[in-house]
Amino acid sequence: MFKKILVANRGEIALRVIFACRELGIRTVAVYSEADENSLHVRFADEDICIGPAKSADSYLNVPAIISAAEITGADAIHPGYGFLSESAYLAEVCEACHIRFIGPDPHVIRLLGDKAKARKAMKKAGVPMLPGSEGPVDSEEAALKIAREIGYPVIIKAVAGGGGRGMRIVREPSDLGHSFRTAQREAEAAFGRGDVYIEKYLDSPRHIEYQIIGDHHGNVVHLGERECSIQRRHQKLIEESPSVAVSDKVRRKMGAVVVDAARAVQYTNAGTFEFLVDDKGQFYFMEVNTRIQVEHPVTEWVTGIDLVKEQIRIAAGERLSFRQSDVTWTGHSIECRVNAEDPVTFVPSPGKIHAFSIPGGPGVRVDTACHSEATIPPHYDSMIAKVIVHGRDRAEAIARMKRTLEMSVVEGIRTSIPLHLKILNDPDFVAGRLSTHFMERFMPVKKPVAAEQSA
Ligand code: ADP
Repeated sequence: MFKKILVANRGEIALRVIFACRELGIRTVAVYSEADENSLHVRFADEDICIGPAKSADSYLNVPAIISAAEITGADAIHPGYGFLSESAYLAEVCEACHIRFIGPDPHVIRLLGDKAKARKAMKKAGVPMLPGSEGPVDSEEAALKIAREIGYPVIIKAVAGGGGRGMRIVREPSDLGHSFRTAQREAEAAFGRGDVYIEKYLDSPRHIEYQIIGDHHGNVVHLGERECSIQRRHQKLIEESPSVAVSDKVRRKMGAVVVDAARAVQYTNAGTFEFLVDDKGQFYFMEVNTRIQVEHPVTEWVTGIDLVKEQIRIAAGERLSFRQSDVTWTGHSIECRVNAEDPVTFVPSPGKIHAFSIPGGPGVRVDTACHSEATIPPHYDSMIAKVIVHGRDRAEAIARMKRTLEMSVVEGIRTSIPLHLKILNDPDFVAGRLSTHFMERFMPVKKPVAAEQSA
């Protein structure tokens, strides 16, 4: 087992990894930017090192600074969390070269699955159901038109190197294709340094359902069931739950077997997530694989009773998975709300100093956060400040628990998305489980005409 792990992240996920290390008796090193000097992950790690200024590019994305910090402190592994460098095949390679263990899949697996066109090809070969689309990147407008004609409109143009819901363009008719194709290429080039795009069929009102898997270096791969993540705003998840009301035991077994086979086919190790879109007939279509721990992993931990982060660490150290597929059972229902520092109506970010912070616990409540009553939310990073996760015997109890928890939460000094979450939790469609990725459109601010905005 490792003696010391460097946590290459900040906020709640850095703390989450530190918790796991403490329970396993492993020492920790926190890295931080100048904006995070007083953060809890710095306070609770055994050692800490400043890796640069506030800007992520100069600190949390700075591979040489992170590797140097690991070398100076003698860390034998790096946990990347999610976001930042968590899906960087380059960091995983540099770690390998420096004899530091990267807690995640092997670099060639990260590289393969991080290229969405290559991932599609590999997953299709492994028998995963696919939406009709291009075989690989599409390099000309003519080729794009031809494929779109074959698969039928609407289509979606996506960046091969995409992530975080950026660089996607929906096209409903041929006359819009050329312009959208060029814009998507330009956006992809600007955001990811690579302009390659591919095309697939666009589903009008799908659910987003994903499967958690975990595999060790001894050929064992197990799935931990699904998470429903259809409540999204601008392709960013807001509420996640497990199980999904749209998945029966039979479907869970069937899709679970599909993802386990697919993970084996690419020699997947460590934790990973297979994301799918599900149409109104219950048909699953592959979207992408995320080669890291996900923000929403706690809902899976709660219904299965498995500590995913500890399991990630053990596997990276060469241990066997501590359970088999037949040991995995699902109990009750878990829901997670991502609390963001933002205006609940306009969604404008609301960083700043917190004056009061209290999220009540009680039965069936877990709060993953690095916030406290005197924390300052810096403007430089993601706006998520806390994850409130609940568990109940069934979905109705979980919803009731989430509502009472958020109703009694006090966060002063900044604005948060808590009022928005309460609106969603009281919505009849949400309560009935009638979900789709378009659910949030009804909650979006109405765009005023430009002239009216100017006179306001
Ligand atoms: P990213 O890696 O940027 O998050 P994804 O491929 O995971 O991109 O897609 C993010 C979201 O975009 C999905 O959850 C879904 O809401 C929407 N989406 C992506 N592809 C399609 C599609 N073919 N049809 C309908 N919606 C899609």
